[in-house]
Amino acid sequence: MPRNPRYDILFEPVRIGPVTAPNRFYQTPHATGMGYLKPESGAKLRGIKAEGGWGVVCTEYCSIHPSSDDSPFGFLTLWDEDDVRALMPTVEAIHAHGSLAGVELWHGGSHANNRLTREPILAPSARPALIPQPGSARAMDKADIKAFRTWHRSAALRAKRAGFDIVYCYAGHDYLPFQFLSPRLNLRGDEYGGSLANRVRLLRELIEDTREAVGDRCAIAVRLSVDELHGSRGITSQGEGQEILAMLAELPDLWDVNVSGSLGNDSRSSRFSDEGFQEAHVAFVKALTSKPVVSVGRFTSPDSMVSQVRRGIQDFIGAARPSIADPFLPKKIDEGREDEIRECIGCNICRSANNEAVPLRCSQNPTIGEEWRRGWHPEHVEAADTSLHVLVVGSGPAGLECALTLGRRGHRVMLAEAGRKLGGRINQEAGLPGLGYWARIRDHRLHMMAKLSSIEIFPESRLSAEDALALEADHVVLATGSRWRRDGIGSLGEEAADLGAGGSILTPDDVFAGAAIAGPVLIYDDEHYAVGGALAEKFSKEGHQVHLATPAAMLSSWTVMTDEQFFIQRRLMELGVRPLLSQHLASAGNGVAELACVYTGRIRRHEFGTLILVTGRMAEDSLYRGLLAMTGQWQAAGIRSVTRIGDCLAPSSIADAVHAGHRWAREFDRPPAEIVPRRERPIPA
Ligand code: ADP
Ligand code: SF4
Repeated sequence: MPRNPRYDILFEPVRIGPVTAPNRFYQTPHATGMGYLKPESGAKLRGIKAEGGWGVVCTEYCSIHPSSDDSPFGFLTLWDEDDVRALMPTVEAIHAHGSLAGVELWHGGSHANNRLTREPILAPSARPALIPQPGSARAMDKADIKAFRTWHRSAALRAKRAGFDIVYCYAGHDYLPFQFLSPRLNLRGDEYGGSLANRVRLLRELIEDTREAVGDRCAIAVRLSVDELHGSRGITSQGEGQEILAMLAELPDLWDVNVSGSLGNDSRSSRFSDEGFQEAHVAFVKALTSKPVVSVGRFTSPDSMVSQVRRGIQDFIGAARPSIADPFLPKKIDEGREDEIRECIGCNICRSANNEAVPLRCSQNPTIGEEWRRGWHPEHVEAADTSLHVLVVGSGPAGLECALTLGRRGHRVMLAEAGRKLGGRINQEAGLPGLGYWARIRDHRLHMMAKLSSIEIFPESRLSAEDALALEADHVVLATGSRWRRDGIGSLGEEAADLGAGGSILTPDDVFAGAAIAGPVLIYDDEHYAVGGALAEKFSKEGHQVHLATPAAMLSSWTVMTDEQFFIQRRLMELGVRPLLSQHLASAGNGVAELACVYTGRIRRHEFGTLILVTGRMAEDSLYRGLLAMTGQWQAAGIRSVTRIGDCLAPSSIADAVHAGHRWAREFDRPPAEIVPRRERPIPA
């Protein structure tokens, strides 16, 4: 299909100082969980972004010196010539597709932990480390500031030697240059502190140093947080954010602007932001500079992108998460296939990968992070040697992804679903407050499947083992999902609760099935992810008095990993949901729950009208067990294998279910010896 001319503007080249981007698609720096320990994985990932049409592809944060060490998280380093060599393949992979390569030079200051290098932590003013630990940062003296500038300059020269086209001065996300800007963190009395002109001094010097060192060939980008979202206590886009920009307006070649305060503000999940959510804060920038501007806002709609450019909000369309969910987003627009864009759902599972120090993963894109280690490409799957007949049972994230990928490979697929509507758990969870974007997991796959004649779909078809055998498929894949537990066993509560009759005790499955909710609601969350908090929000908004009990010390505690926990707890508390923290459910019956303090065991009694147990989930594997009992009949039915995938094997996240479905479809007909994922590991010289 030809490109829609409405989107032509997105494909105009844009000059950035001495270099020119081939289009307006700009993959802003984002973490991958790979860092300097996994250079091959990083190179392959960035190369695929360039192949997918991103005109600028940047690295993740890249430390300039051992005094900025974020171990064990995945960060890059440009400390020496070995690092230069290690980053060259990334640059080459990006250049191979005609895109520009950007590197985000980084010094964390008191936001680095230096656990690996054991260097003292540096800051503009002495203060406890910004990442809680029993340590403090020391105030940088003039010699330290001079040394810092030298490190930055040396790293910029290394970046140039590695071949990068865009070199960042990174004054965002509470890192060192931003700490100097911030009146909260910079309490100095010398020419680097006090007035705004003084606090800006270091960033100005950094830009000038970098330009002088590499500006002949490299563009100098400044990443600036123009609003900390700390109100009058911090830098705001109405106040000093504007003043900083006005003072430095023409100094860099490009402005990469965002909101900050913490990473959770910048990459806010869809529960707390919509597409373009940063516009109100960054819209002023273009009026103050003639240099190109880029920002982010989870842009997945080409019409919103065009609007950003036409209305003069930004010159590039900055994206991190949308480029993870669909590395080929620009190409799809270019080829008139925008309906095929796999839109980011804003769940922030990608953020959790970095926070857990593992390679990137994504709910929408199962191939991200697997480009090098498994050789997966987001757009290409290996065509089947022989087209086989595969029965997929269950149409949740695992079943849908499996069926789609099998169909793309040229296999013939029958997809059977018990319910009337396809989507499995998505149909339930996407109906909860704030989780509506999650429906994109289902909708994208149904849309893509409709284009393939090789996939037959059978809704309202609950299969028995006999039914499955009668269909005479070559392979049977069970993606029959899971059920919420009813016994109270959760991730922290090892023992079942003593649950008697009387009072309404439900699981989320009952709620989704429409069970009546009576009286005050008590939710017991020992899963710690999204559903417990989202149910509390739902019932509170519906007018119920809601208590949310959990054995953890905070609400929805695992969402610390998705950078959402603060926002979730704040919202619930503002809604009037009452937290009952560090409480384990010991028993419940006759409308009374006994909650035991996890530290002292002291029991408190809590009356409820409805108790909802959000704890663990059990695999729904009855069909599998039924088929196992009939193994002797498989051969006669022509069945070569029966496999469980996703939640019906081991209940987990949507991202894991999608990955499992994709993986089975790619690998089931290949020799096992071929499918050992590669590892990057240091080998002694
Ligand atoms: P996952 O996350 O692993 O994809 P889900 O729970 O989202 O799992 O989806 C499982 C789907 O399987 C549900 O839509 C459910 O209705 C369907 N299912 C379960 N058992 C059967 C069966 N015997 N026949 C057909 N569909 C089934
Ligand atoms: Fe978007 Fe979620 Fe994928 Fe991150 S994990 S890119 S937020 S869909």
